[in-house]
Amino acid sequence: MRALSLLAALSAAGATVTASPVGPAHAPRALSDSNPFVGKKLFANPKWASKLEDTYKAFTSRGDSENAAVVRKVQKIGSFVWVSSRSGLSEIDEAIQAARAEQSRTGQKQIVGLVMYNIPDRDCSAGESAGELSTKNDGLRIYKEQFVKPYAAKLAAAKDLQFAVVVEPDSLGNSVTNSAVEFCKQAIPTYREGIAFAIKSLQLDNVAVYLDAANGGWLGWGDSLPKAANEIATILSMASPAKVRGFSTNVSNYNPYLATKRDSFTSGSPSYDESHYASSLAPYLQQHGLPAHFIIDQGRVAYPGARKDWGDWCNVNPAGFGHIPTTDQSVLQNSNVDAIVWIKPGGESDGQCGLTGAPIAGAWFGGYAEMLTGNADASVKNS
Ligand code: BGC
Repeated sequence: MRALSLLAALSAAGATVTASPVGPAHAPRALSDSNPFVGKKLFANPKWASKLEDTYKAFTSRGDSENAAVVRKVQKIGSFVWVSSRSGLSEIDEAIQAARAEQSRTGQKQIVGLVMYNIPDRDCSAGESAGELSTKNDGLRIYKEQFVKPYAAKLAAAKDLQFAVVVEPDSLGNSVTNSAVEFCKQAIPTYREGIAFAIKSLQLDNVAVYLDAANGGWLGWGDSLPKAANEIATILSMASPAKVRGFSTNVSNYNPYLATKRDSFTSGSPSYDESHYASSLAPYLQQHGLPAHFIIDQGRVAYPGARKDWGDWCNVNPAGFGHIPTTDQSVLQNSNVDAIVWIKPGGESDGQCGLTGAPIAGAWFGGYAEMLTGNADASVKNS
């Protein structure tokens, strides 16, 4: 997983949008037409909560009851469940079982947040999160048959729950700005075909699809915005008539939703925080007739000055758990935004980078979880 390009924009995204409807006609998409998060509780992942038990114990063993109490609050906050491999499909079964139990225990409708993250040649530029599939080893066929199809079938069989699925973080960003990297250049056709297939497969009444649109530091610059919208339009024309509800941003990145103090490296960007990124991408999407709805990851937010460069994306320090998931427009102040959500589970490493001793991507990084807790947003402490 990485979150910012290092290379100049040399994208292949200038492709014109052609109408190429494929696949069967679908029933009207209820969850594409309205904000699916309103009136529902974002499912709180018990597996992540159990990892945070160590964080709780670390604080209590030091007599730090204040931070221990914050961990107890964090454990109840909704966050997304990552499905990053074929064997990881069992994560969906576990989430469904736990969300059903929670729905019947509380009587409150749950929305289960899932990440689909197994596109062949994944993470083509940073190399910290290479996945199990590659184009040259028949990965695209395997992705469709053994990952996307069973993934969608599990959601189709759980009509009593609603889902929000974030589709393939980083791929779009890499397609738009990293086509000068040979591995990325070769991966672009796979990304397009795989993602279009995923979107088509997820056209279910209980599923809202959000295609990942990287983050403001990556695609929010004036020259990148139209290229990003072109690439999105290309993929969605391949998936047509299938639709998405909108786009996810800041997944596993550290940008604030609303910057209180602007980092100097954001100067000259209209997308200096993620709310502004949503607002600056929206008109380009609308020009293509695409829906300009966003969910924005605030699972971890960097402190101003924590990053020397907007390209710092790995285990940034200091950072804190960000604003709690919400659909409240008095907080969001942006009608393009469906919700602030927590997507990257705080405490899971970004890779063996950023901080000495950081474990591989996805592995638990206990000291980091403690740091996030100590720096948590006031909304966490007041939750
Ligand atoms: C890793 C995944 C992990 C995810 C969530 C990614 O960087 O590559 O394996 O599931 O982060 O922590």
